[in-house]
Amino acid sequence: MTAKFCPSCGSTQGPFVRGVCRPCFLKKHSLFELPAKLQTARCRSCGQISFLGKWRKQEPAVLKKLIEKNTRILGLENPEFVFSFSPEEAGKIRAKATLKGEIDSIEIEQEKETILEFTGALCDSCMKAVSNYYEATIQLRFEKKEIGEKIVAEIEKLLSSLSKEDLLAKIVSAKNQKHGIDLVLGSNKSASKIAKAIANKYHARPVVSYKQAKGGTRDKVKKRFTYCIRIPG
Ligand SMILES: [Zn+2]
Ligand SMILES: [Zn+2]
Repeated sequence: MTAKFCPSCGSTQGPFVRGVCRPCFLKKHSLFELPAKLQTARCRSCGQISFLGKWRKQEPAVLKKLIEKNTRILGLENPEFVFSFSPEEAGKIRAKATLKGEIDSIEIEQEKETILEFTGALCDSCMKAVSNYYEATIQLRFEKKEIGEKIVAEIEKLLSSLSKEDLLAKIVSAKNQKHGIDLVLGSNKSASKIAKAIANKYHARPVVSYKQAKGGTRDKVKKRFTYCIRIPG
């Protein structure tokens, strides 16, 4: 009986797949395709992730399905995936996918890695919850319309950078007034920062006032703040 060996590397370590040893076979053939990176939207408020058009709780079973949906298995009998995940770091999870199966009834497996990356979003229900919610109003008063438009554009720009950290940093509504505009904002924290920045830039002094709003708890009175900024000139 002649000893079987791998024509590629000379190994006598069987079993052989399509005439070569398993390591040599895997060097030339992929058992499955998997993108190096998979991006998924995740709600910044409740942490649910978007999967197949639905918002789902982020748990291993869902992450496994998410990866499986993005793989393509290439000619393997009885394929079966095993996954493992690293702890999340900076919005990323390293996932290891091992595919086991058979070729011509010989067991074979291959391991690949992908990075699950989460991007900030708002799920439908969180979006609804915040759409009518507001904490502050900026009353911008000015004489020249062009100045007003310029400042509103600056406020929008500030909000878009603040919204990365503060999901309520947005204009809920805007109302033109005789000598200016009222901007209603979701977040008081961001409204206060914006009022300071704009007042500083235009040498104005913001006048802050507040009203008690409905819906506070016993320990925490809910307040709605108003920042009135008169632009001189
Ligand atoms: Zn070999
Ligand atoms: Zn949400």
